[in-house]
Amino acid sequence: MSKIKLFDLSRQYKSLKAILERKVASVLASGQYIMGKNVKTFEENASKYLSVKNSVTCNSGTDALILALRCLGIGHGDEVITTPFTYFSTTEAILLVGAKPIFVDIDSTTFNIDCSQIERRITKKTKAILGVHIFGHPYEAEKVKRICKKHKIKMIEDCAQSFGASIGKKQTGTFGDIGCFSFFPTKNLGCAGDGGMLVTNNDQFAKKARMLRNHGGILRNEHNLIGYNSRLDEIQAVVLIEKLKLIDKLNNSRIRIAKEYSTSIDNKKIVTPNYLNKVRHIYHQFTLIVDNRARFTNYLTKNGIPFGIYYPKPAYMQPAIKKIIRNSPRLKVTESVCKKCVSIPIFPELSKKECDFIINTINDY
Ligand SMILES: *Cc1c(COP(=O)(O)O)cnc(C)c1O
Repeated sequence: MSKIKLFDLSRQYKSLKAILERKVASVLASGQYIMGKNVKTFEENASKYLSVKNSVTCNSGTDALILALRCLGIGHGDEVITTPFTYFSTTEAILLVGAKPIFVDIDSTTFNIDCSQIERRITKKTKAILGVHIFGHPYEAEKVKRICKKHKIKMIEDCAQSFGASIGKKQTGTFGDIGCFSFFPTKNLGCAGDGGMLVTNNDQFAKKARMLRNHGGILRNEHNLIGYNSRLDEIQAVVLIEKLKLIDKLNNSRIRIAKEYSTSIDNKKIVTPNYLNKVRHIYHQFTLIVDNRARFTNYLTKNGIPFGIYYPKPAYMQPAIKKIIRNSPRLKVTESVCKKCVSIPIFPELSKKECDFIINTINDY
């Protein structure tokens, strides 16, 4: 068995090589690289898949979050309730538009925002709740939506890790006002570079997002807003058109591996992740909880099993913002999970043999 990787994109590329190379070559030959027909086709296909009215692609998941906040008119002096257990960009986007992130603790078994603690953090300045479907596990979006309605605030979903995850029949990203996706190569739906998208059933928000991503205008040399240069390019669009066709299959492979891990990992020192009923968890990560993490990760390394620490610190402890958010309360569950979490390899092409080796090694720990 060759060396196991935490995530190996080259395997997927091998199976898609012929079609991707043909499609990318045809874009190169066309001479149309930005805002062409493939971007439009991908947006239409994504809207169909997600059952949403509008899909607006952009340059990255981070930009999708920034565009979403701007579309909803959120900026200086506003507060946005969010989770500290996420990739830094969720927090970064809130700060970049001038708003203040208000952190709410997470649930210890799902790692998602603890909805029961949201309402007590709502103030007159609260403009939105930005939840993250962390590791591909949908948070309680219906509950968050009820809170948003009651307090007349907006709801944004960070779906960077949850393309294809759903609650009942409803896809993540379609519960709130705007859903934000990332197509970074290692995400469940990834392109061959940077890419992102926001989705919304509100035509006005979609129109504003289309302007913002293109220097604030739709017509050439007519700038109605101060926007960004944040467009998806045609090469990424053709890659995404092909991979979107496979997304259910790819996510199902992750789910199959996760089931295997959940049923076969059996070690008193290790806690495997839990999931809520009714949801389709698409396992962007498979994250274990272990008390003595340093000892466990040394053991994994010695046995040739790579791992990831997502995430080692709560967002409010990041050096860039520690000083800005001086009065953020310490959140116990988040801090405990940050000390104990270990993600093990999970990607659609991980082989049965590799999976068994990982399980046996963990059980022998
Ligand atoms: C990856 C990620 C982002 C940012 O996406 P990019 O495309 O890398 O900018 C935002 N939020 C979460 C939760 C992510 O995992």
